[in-house]
Amino acid sequence: MPLNSLFIEKYSAMTGGISEATISRLKPLLEEIRELKKKHHAVILSHYYMTPELQVDTKNGGVADFVGDSLGLSVAGKDTKADYIIFCGVKFMAETAFILSPEKKVLLPDHQAGCSLAESITGKDVIALKEKHPGVPVIAYINTYAETKAECDVCCTSRNAVKIAKSFESKELIFIPDKFMGQNLASKFKTETDKTLILWNGSCEVHEQFRENIESMTMANPEAELLLHWEVPQETVASTLKTRKGIVGSTSDILSYVEQSKASQFILGSECDLGATLKGMFPTKQFITPCIMCQHMKRITLQNTLDALRSIGTPNEAQYNVSIDETIRKKAYAPIKLMLDLS
Ligand code: SF4
Repeated sequence: MPLNSLFIEKYSAMTGGISEATISRLKPLLEEIRELKKKHHAVILSHYYMTPELQVDTKNGGVADFVGDSLGLSVAGKDTKADYIIFCGVKFMAETAFILSPEKKVLLPDHQAGCSLAESITGKDVIALKEKHPGVPVIAYINTYAETKAECDVCCTSRNAVKIAKSFESKELIFIPDKFMGQNLASKFKTETDKTLILWNGSCEVHEQFRENIESMTMANPEAELLLHWEVPQETVASTLKTRKGIVGSTSDILSYVEQSKASQFILGSECDLGATLKGMFPTKQFITPCIMCQHMKRITLQNTLDALRSIGTPNEAQYNVSIDETIRKKAYAPIKLMLDLS
């Protein structure tokens, strides 16, 4: 059977074309993944930073049941009746999916898929912060591990951070772990909530690289609008958005911005494969990016996704299985639940 024409169309829109060699490579992998998903009642959740072959969804002949950002995917996983979730993303994301869906098995194709931001802070660090700032609530960005979340008062995404902050009476809030996101949010917090943030010194090793490269691209492309992620350094955000139309926001904010913008050209300050997502969604628009990839995200491939599915019911399944001590899972669930209730 030839590779589904919808898949070829979508993949080509995302990448600028598809070669016969790529078709021959992908076809057997995609077919076996589809068969095993059906056999084991599994769904694949695929993050926007995955390579294009993992981002084409089932409606377009691919294998991803849901493509989205980390929290959106975990909520989608919770709402399915599947027995297995195969999480194509990094470890803290798969943990969040498991925290929300403990009755399901969550498999992560490579447990080495980490995150500089999540790794910058531990539960013990949060306890020490609370001792240093007694009574100040701790808001954790979703990019944290379960044992860190377990010590926090509430979680947030970049989208709901202000709303969450407003629900606390305290004039000060501890915001972890991304200092750049915290700095970018600080002025918004001050105007909209009259609250100040105590920040942690974490950063995303991908987004912190958007500096002079974005400034020079802005100068070289006078018509292009800017799409900057919250985790981009505040100096870059302030200097470029001072003179150019654009947005600083979450991945979902970036997608919505492009959808409503009349511009035909954009400079992307976020992970390189979000550029492929955007090209697939908006084929008539042009996206320019320094193309910086997250090496943690790229550990997840079609091959190890297939390997995780092949392991189901065998002793190898344990190497892919995401498990969290039930006491920590319950403690980590509380701040996520509070965030979902407040959003
Ligand atoms: S892009 Fe940054 S925040 Fe996202 S997983 Fe990679 S290191 Fe972590």
